[in-house]
Amino acid sequence: MSFPLRDGTRIPAVGLGTWKAAPGEVRQAVHVALQAGYRHIDCASVYQNEEEVGDALDHVLRNGLLPRSELYICSKVWNTDHSAARVRQACLKSLKALKLDYLDLYLIHWPVTGNVGPEVKPSISETWQAMEGLVREGLVRSIGTSNFGAKKLADILSYAQIPPAVCQVEVHPYHRNDALLAFCAQHSIHVTAYAPLGSPDSASIFPRKKPLVLMEDATVKAVAARTGKNVGQVLVRWALRHGTSVIPKSTSPARIRGNLAVLDWELSPEDYAALSSLPFQQRMVNGAMWLNPKGPYRTMEELWDKPEADEE
Ligand code: NAP
Repeated sequence: MSFPLRDGTRIPAVGLGTWKAAPGEVRQAVHVALQAGYRHIDCASVYQNEEEVGDALDHVLRNGLLPRSELYICSKVWNTDHSAARVRQACLKSLKALKLDYLDLYLIHWPVTGNVGPEVKPSISETWQAMEGLVREGLVRSIGTSNFGAKKLADILSYAQIPPAVCQVEVHPYHRNDALLAFCAQHSIHVTAYAPLGSPDSASIFPRKKPLVLMEDATVKAVAARTGKNVGQVLVRWALRHGTSVIPKSTSPARIRGNLAVLDWELSPEDYAALSSLPFQQRMVNGAMWLNPKGPYRTMEELWDKPEADEE
Protein backbone atom coordinates (compact mmCIF):
# COMPACT_ATOMS: atom_id res chain seq x y z
CA MET A 1 0.00 0.00 0.00
CA SER A 2 1.31 3.46 -0.89
CA PHE A 3 0.09 7.04 -1.22
CA PRO A 4 0.61 9.27 -4.26
CA LEU A 5 2.59 12.47 -3.83
CA ARG A 6 1.96 15.67 -5.75
CA ASP A 7 5.30 15.34 -7.57
CA GLY A 8 4.24 12.09 -9.26
CA THR A 9 6.09 9.70 -6.91
CA ARG A 10 4.51 7.42 -4.29
CA ILE A 11 5.34 6.92 -0.61
CA PRO A 12 4.93 3.46 0.97
CA ALA A 13 2.20 3.64 3.59
CA VAL A 14 4.09 2.03 6.48
CA GLY A 15 7.72 2.82 7.18
CA LEU A 16 10.16 1.94 9.94
CA GLY A 17 11.04 4.76 12.35
CA THR A 18 14.68 4.84 13.46
CA TRP A 19 14.84 7.60 16.09
CA LYS A 20 16.23 6.20 19.35
CA ALA A 21 17.08 2.91 17.66
CA ALA A 22 20.33 2.22 19.42
CA PRO A 23 23.64 1.49 17.73
CA GLY A 24 24.03 -2.25 17.57
CA GLU A 25 20.27 -2.66 17.17
CA VAL A 26 19.23 -0.62 14.19
CA ARG A 27 21.06 -2.63 11.52
CA GLN A 28 19.22 -5.77 12.61
CA ALA A 29 15.94 -3.81 12.83
CA VAL A 30 16.28 -2.62 9.23
CA HIS A 31 17.14 -6.18 8.08
CA VAL A 32 14.11 -7.61 9.83
CA ALA A 33 11.89 -4.83 8.49
CA LEU A 34 12.97 -5.30 4.88
CA GLN A 35 12.54 -9.06 5.20
CA ALA A 36 9.07 -8.52 6.65
CA GLY A 37 8.08 -6.35 3.67
CA TYR A 38 8.79 -2.78 4.80
CA ARG A 39 10.20 -0.68 1.97
CA HIS A 40 10.17 2.73 3.65
CA ILE A 41 12.78 3.67 6.27
CA ASP A 42 12.60 7.01 8.08
CA CYS A 43 16.06 8.36 8.94
CA ALA A 44 17.70 11.61 10.01
CA SER A 45 21.28 12.71 10.51
CA VAL A 46 20.48 13.74 14.09
CA TYR A 47 19.47 10.16 14.96
CA GLN A 48 23.20 9.36 14.73
CA ASN A 49 22.59 5.91 13.30
CA GLU A 50 22.53 6.49 9.54
CA GLU A 51 25.85 4.62 9.12
CA GLU A 52 24.31 1.51 10.56
CA VAL A 53 21.06 1.87 8.64
CA GLY A 54 23.29 2.26 5.58
CA ASP A 55 25.11 -0.99 6.37
CA ALA A 56 21.79 -2.84 6.27
CA LEU A 57 20.74 -1.11 3.03
CA ASP A 58 24.11 -1.81 1.46
CA HIS A 59 23.85 -5.50 2.34
CA VAL A 60 20.43 -5.75 0.71
CA LEU A 61 21.39 -3.81 -2.41
CA ARG A 62 24.82 -5.37 -2.95
CA ASN A 63 23.44 -8.87 -2.64
CA GLY A 64 20.60 -8.09 -5.04
CA LEU A 65 17.97 -8.93 -2.42
CA LEU A 66 15.98 -5.83 -3.44
CA PRO A 67 16.46 -3.28 -6.21
CA ARG A 68 17.06 0.32 -5.14
CA SER A 69 13.83 1.32 -6.90
CA GLU A 70 11.81 -0.70 -4.37
CA LEU A 71 13.28 1.08 -1.37
CA TYR A 72 11.97 4.39 -0.06
CA ILE A 73 14.51 6.19 2.10
CA CYS A 74 13.81 9.47 3.86
CA SER A 75 16.35 11.63 5.69
CA LYS A 76 16.24 15.11 7.19
CA VAL A 77 18.48 18.15 7.26
CA TRP A 78 19.32 19.18 10.82
CA ASN A 79 18.87 22.67 12.31
CA THR A 80 22.57 23.57 12.12
CA ASP A 81 22.71 22.88 8.37
CA HIS A 82 20.08 25.29 7.01
CA SER A 83 22.35 27.60 5.01
CA ALA A 84 22.42 27.08 1.24
CA ALA A 85 25.94 25.69 1.31
CA ARG A 86 25.37 23.40 4.28
CA VAL A 87 22.12 21.85 3.02
CA ARG A 88 23.97 20.21 0.14
CA GLN A 89 26.85 19.08 2.38
CA ALA A 90 24.39 17.62 4.88
CA CYS A 91 22.56 15.75 2.16
CA LEU A 92 25.82 14.35 0.78
CA LYS A 93 26.84 13.28 4.29
CA SER A 94 23.56 11.41 4.82
CA LEU A 95 23.86 9.80 1.38
CA LYS A 96 27.38 8.64 2.21
CA ALA A 97 26.32 7.21 5.56
CA LEU A 98 23.30 5.51 4.03
CA LYS A 99 25.44 4.26 1.10
CA LEU A 100 22.99 5.60 -1.45
CA ASP A 101 23.27 7.89 -4.44
CA TYR A 102 19.87 9.47 -3.98
CA LEU A 103 17.23 9.89 -1.29
CA ASP A 104 13.56 9.36 -2.03
CA LEU A 105 12.60 12.10 0.38
CA TYR A 106 14.53 14.84 2.18
CA LEU A 107 12.84 16.96 4.85
CA ILE A 108 13.73 20.11 6.76
CA HIS A 109 13.70 18.54 10.24
CA TRP A 110 12.52 21.62 12.19
CA PRO A 111 11.75 25.25 11.28
CA VAL A 112 14.56 26.08 13.69
CA THR A 113 18.19 27.03 13.18
CA GLY A 114 19.24 27.78 16.75
CA ASN A 115 19.60 31.55 16.15
CA VAL A 116 18.16 34.01 18.66
CA GLY A 117 16.26 37.05 17.38
CA PRO A 118 13.03 38.08 15.74
CA GLU A 119 13.45 35.96 12.58
CA VAL A 120 14.76 32.55 11.67
CA LYS A 121 18.24 32.87 10.16
CA PRO A 122 19.25 31.50 7.71
CA SER A 123 15.73 32.04 6.43
CA ILE A 124 13.45 29.15 5.63
CA SER A 125 13.27 30.44 2.05
CA GLU A 126 17.06 30.11 1.70
CA THR A 127 16.86 26.56 3.02
CA TRP A 128 13.91 25.68 0.80
CA GLN A 129 15.66 26.97 -2.32
CA ALA A 130 18.66 24.80 -1.44
CA MET A 131 16.32 21.82 -1.03
CA GLU A 132 14.92 22.53 -4.51
CA GLY A 133 18.48 22.54 -5.80
CA LEU A 134 18.95 18.99 -4.50
CA VAL A 135 15.95 17.83 -6.53
CA ARG A 136 17.29 19.51 -9.69
CA GLU A 137 20.66 17.88 -9.10
CA GLY A 138 19.07 14.45 -8.73
CA LEU A 139 20.30 13.93 -5.17
CA VAL A 140 16.75 13.67 -3.83
CA ARG A 141 13.44 12.81 -5.50
CA SER A 142 10.98 14.61 -3.20
CA ILE A 143 11.28 17.34 -0.62
CA GLY A 144 9.15 18.32 2.33
CA THR A 145 9.03 19.59 5.87
CA SER A 146 8.87 18.15 9.33
CA ASN A 147 7.41 19.95 12.35
CA PHE A 148 6.11 22.86 10.23
CA GLY A 149 2.66 24.28 10.95
CA ALA A 150 0.17 25.61 8.43
CA LYS A 151 1.42 29.20 8.49
CA LYS A 152 5.00 28.17 7.78
CA LEU A 153 3.86 25.81 5.03
CA ALA A 154 1.71 28.53 3.47
CA ASP A 155 4.77 30.75 3.43
CA ILE A 156 6.81 28.13 1.56
CA LEU A 157 3.93 27.60 -0.87
CA SER A 158 3.97 31.33 -1.65
CA TYR A 159 7.44 31.17 -3.22
CA ALA A 160 8.26 27.51 -3.84
CA GLN A 161 9.10 26.41 -7.35
CA ILE A 162 8.87 22.85 -6.06
CA PRO A 163 6.10 22.76 -3.42
CA PRO A 164 6.52 20.52 -0.39
CA ALA A 165 5.34 17.00 -1.22
CA VAL A 166 5.30 15.71 2.36
CA CYS A 167 4.58 17.21 5.77
CA GLN A 168 5.89 14.90 8.50
CA VAL A 169 4.32 15.70 11.86
CA GLU A 170 3.07 14.10 15.03
CA VAL A 171 -0.32 12.47 14.51
CA HIS A 172 -2.05 9.86 16.69
CA PRO A 173 -5.34 9.64 18.61
CA TYR A 174 -3.90 11.78 21.45
CA HIS A 175 -2.76 14.44 18.96
CA ARG A 176 -5.02 14.38 15.93
CA ASN A 177 -3.66 17.61 14.49
CA ASP A 178 -6.89 18.00 12.49
CA ALA A 179 -6.45 21.60 11.32
CA LEU A 180 -2.99 20.93 9.90
CA LEU A 181 -4.19 17.76 8.17
CA ALA A 182 -7.04 19.74 6.60
CA PHE A 183 -4.60 22.41 5.41
CA CYS A 184 -2.35 19.75 3.88
CA ALA A 185 -5.29 18.04 2.15
CA GLN A 186 -6.36 21.37 0.70
CA HIS A 187 -2.87 21.99 -0.67
CA SER A 188 -2.13 18.44 -1.89
CA ILE A 189 0.61 17.89 0.68
CA HIS A 190 0.80 14.32 1.95
CA VAL A 191 1.09 13.85 5.71
CA THR A 192 3.34 11.26 7.34
CA ALA A 193 2.35 10.54 10.94
CA TYR A 194 5.29 10.37 13.27
CA ALA A 195 5.18 9.08 16.86
CA PRO A 196 2.09 7.05 15.86
CA LEU A 197 2.22 4.97 19.04
CA GLY A 198 2.56 8.05 21.24
CA SER A 199 6.36 7.86 21.42
CA PRO A 200 6.56 6.45 24.96
CA ASP A 201 10.34 6.17 24.78
CA SER A 202 10.84 9.93 24.25
CA ALA A 203 9.17 10.99 27.51
CA SER A 204 12.55 11.67 29.13
CA ILE A 205 13.62 13.86 26.18
CA PHE A 206 10.29 15.71 25.91
CA PRO A 207 8.71 15.78 29.38
CA ARG A 208 4.92 15.67 29.24
CA LYS A 209 2.58 17.77 31.31
CA LYS A 210 0.27 14.80 31.79
CA PRO A 211 2.17 11.56 31.40
CA LEU A 212 -0.71 9.63 29.84
CA VAL A 213 0.44 6.71 27.70
CA LEU A 214 -1.48 6.29 24.44
CA MET A 215 -0.91 2.53 24.25
CA GLU A 216 -2.49 2.21 27.72
CA ASP A 217 -5.61 4.21 26.82
CA ALA A 218 -8.82 2.35 27.69
CA THR A 219 -10.41 2.94 24.25
CA VAL A 220 -7.28 1.81 22.40
CA LYS A 221 -7.13 -1.30 24.57
CA ALA A 222 -10.85 -1.99 24.08
CA VAL A 223 -10.51 -1.76 20.28
CA ALA A 224 -7.51 -4.11 20.46
CA ALA A 225 -9.51 -6.61 22.50
CA ARG A 226 -12.50 -6.34 20.16
CA THR A 227 -10.44 -6.81 16.96
CA GLY A 228 -8.03 -9.41 18.33
CA LYS A 229 -5.10 -7.15 17.32
CA ASN A 230 -2.48 -5.60 19.57
CA VAL A 231 -2.50 -1.89 20.50
CA GLY A 232 0.38 -1.12 18.11
CA GLN A 233 -1.55 -2.61 15.20
CA VAL A 234 -4.71 -0.71 16.15
CA LEU A 235 -2.79 2.59 16.15
CA VAL A 236 -0.97 1.93 12.87
CA ARG A 237 -4.27 0.92 11.25
CA TRP A 238 -5.90 4.10 12.61
CA ALA A 239 -3.16 6.20 10.99
CA LEU A 240 -3.71 4.56 7.60
CA ARG A 241 -7.47 4.98 7.86
CA HIS A 242 -6.77 8.61 8.73
CA GLY A 243 -5.06 9.02 5.32
CA THR A 244 -1.49 9.35 6.55
CA SER A 245 1.56 7.25 5.92
CA VAL A 246 2.95 6.09 9.24
CA ILE A 247 6.41 5.29 10.62
CA PRO A 248 6.27 3.30 13.87
CA LYS A 249 9.68 2.73 15.45
CA SER A 250 10.67 -0.61 16.86
CA THR A 251 13.84 -2.61 17.22
CA SER A 252 11.99 -5.71 18.40
CA PRO A 253 11.66 -8.21 15.53
CA ALA A 254 8.19 -9.34 16.68
CA ARG A 255 6.89 -5.78 17.00
CA ILE A 256 8.48 -4.70 13.69
CA ARG A 257 6.63 -7.53 11.95
CA GLY A 258 3.43 -6.96 13.90
CA ASN A 259 3.29 -3.25 13.11
CA LEU A 260 3.20 -4.05 9.39
CA ALA A 261 0.53 -6.74 9.71
CA VAL A 262 -2.22 -4.18 9.32
CA LEU A 263 -2.96 -4.25 5.62
CA ASP A 264 -5.48 -7.11 5.48
CA TRP A 265 -8.06 -5.86 7.96
CA GLU A 266 -9.95 -2.66 8.73
CA LEU A 267 -11.18 -0.83 11.80
CA SER A 268 -14.98 -0.73 11.98
CA PRO A 269 -16.47 2.75 11.44
CA GLU A 270 -17.46 2.76 15.14
CA ASP A 271 -13.97 1.90 16.36
CA TYR A 272 -12.39 4.44 14.00
CA ALA A 273 -14.81 7.10 15.24
CA ALA A 274 -14.11 6.24 18.89
CA LEU A 275 -10.34 6.49 18.35
CA SER A 276 -10.84 9.74 16.42
CA SER A 277 -12.63 11.51 19.23
CA LEU A 278 -10.56 10.89 22.36
CA PRO A 279 -10.93 14.06 24.41
CA PHE A 280 -7.39 14.03 25.82
CA GLN A 281 -4.99 15.73 23.39
CA GLN A 282 -1.30 16.31 24.00
CA ARG A 283 1.71 16.74 21.76
CA MET A 284 4.43 14.34 22.86
CA VAL A 285 7.32 15.74 20.79
CA ASN A 286 6.55 19.29 21.83
CA GLY A 287 9.73 21.13 20.80
CA ALA A 288 9.74 23.10 24.06
CA MET A 289 13.53 23.22 23.91
CA TRP A 290 13.33 25.52 20.87
CA LEU A 291 11.46 28.30 22.65
CA ASN A 292 13.36 31.48 23.56
CA PRO A 293 11.91 34.70 25.00
CA LYS A 294 13.94 36.63 22.39
CA GLY A 295 12.60 34.61 19.47
CA PRO A 296 12.29 33.46 16.79
CA TYR A 297 9.77 31.27 18.68
CA ARG A 298 8.69 32.71 22.03
CA THR A 299 5.63 30.51 22.55
CA MET A 300 4.27 27.12 21.54
CA GLU A 301 1.76 28.97 19.40
CA GLU A 302 4.57 30.66 17.44
CA LEU A 303 6.45 27.38 17.04
CA TRP A 304 3.43 25.33 15.96
CA ASP A 305 1.32 28.06 14.29
CA LYS A 306 -1.59 27.33 16.58
CA PRO A 307 -2.51 27.19 20.25
CA GLU A 308 -1.57 23.90 21.84
CA ALA A 309 -4.44 21.82 23.19
CA ASP A 310 -2.71 21.22 26.50
CA GLU A 311 -2.08 24.94 26.92
CA GLU A 312 -5.61 26.11 26.32
P1 NAP B 1 6.56 5.59 18.26
O1 NAP B 1 6.86 4.89 16.98
O2 NAP B 1 5.24 6.19 18.49
O3 NAP B 1 6.85 4.62 19.49
C1 NAP B 1 8.04 3.91 19.60
C2 NAP B 1 8.03 3.14 20.91
O4 NAP B 1 6.97 2.18 20.90
C3 NAP B 1 9.28 2.38 21.19
O5 NAP B 1 9.51 2.43 22.59
C4 NAP B 1 8.96 0.95 20.76
O6 NAP B 1 9.72 0.04 21.51
C5 NAP B 1 7.50 0.87 21.11
N1 NAP B 1 6.73 -0.03 20.24
C6 NAP B 1 6.84 -0.19 18.91
N2 NAP B 1 5.90 -1.03 18.44
C7 NAP B 1 5.20 -1.43 19.52
C8 NAP B 1 4.10 -2.31 19.68
N3 NAP B 1 3.55 -2.93 18.63
N4 NAP B 1 3.62 -2.52 20.94
C9 NAP B 1 4.18 -1.88 22.01
N5 NAP B 1 5.22 -1.04 21.91
C10 NAP B 1 5.73 -0.81 20.68
O7 NAP B 1 7.64 6.75 18.55
P2 NAP B 1 8.77 7.52 17.77
O8 NAP B 1 9.96 6.66 17.59
O9 NAP B 1 8.95 8.79 18.48
O10 NAP B 1 8.16 7.83 16.34
C11 NAP B 1 8.30 6.96 15.23
C12 NAP B 1 9.31 7.51 14.23
O11 NAP B 1 8.85 8.75 13.70
C13 NAP B 1 10.67 7.84 14.82
O12 NAP B 1 11.43 6.71 15.13
C14 NAP B 1 11.22 8.73 13.75
O13 NAP B 1 11.67 7.96 12.65
C15 NAP B 1 9.99 9.55 13.38
N6 NAP B 1 9.90 10.79 14.17
C16 NAP B 1 10.19 11.95 13.53
C17 NAP B 1 10.17 13.14 14.25
C18 NAP B 1 10.49 14.41 13.54
O14 NAP B 1 10.82 15.42 14.22
N7 NAP B 1 10.40 14.46 12.26
C19 NAP B 1 9.86 13.16 15.60
C20 NAP B 1 9.51 11.95 16.21
C21 NAP B 1 9.54 10.79 15.49
P3 NAP B 1 10.58 -1.15 20.82
O15 NAP B 1 11.58 -0.51 19.90
O16 NAP B 1 11.20 -1.82 21.99
O17 NAP B 1 9.57 -2.01 20.09
